[in-house]
Amino acid sequence: MKFKWLPVVDADACTGCNKCVEACGPRSLTIIGGVATLDDPESCGSEEHCIEPCPENAILMAWLPWEGDEARGKWQASNALAQTW
Ligand code: SF4
Repeated sequence: MKFKWLPVVDADACTGCNKCVEACGPRSLTIIGGVATLDDPESCGSEEHCIEPCPENAILMAWLPWEGDEARGKWQASNALAQTW
């Protein structure tokens, strides 16, 4: 199992303001049902550009299980060193 450094949205805190979507170059996030959603984890570059613009501090980063192209984003073999910002 591999783990990718990906954004996690707190749906209860998110207001759907779209600022994180606009900050994400590859457009990995989109607003679904009024909540920011990582609907394309494969395109995420783990660059964390979505974090700072959020006025609600509703996004954190986490090592999540994912199988995909390791040339894109940050990866590790386990989530033993799981961290949040
Ligand atoms: S910037 Fe924050 S509040 Fe705004 S849509 Fe993204 S996660 Fe939700």
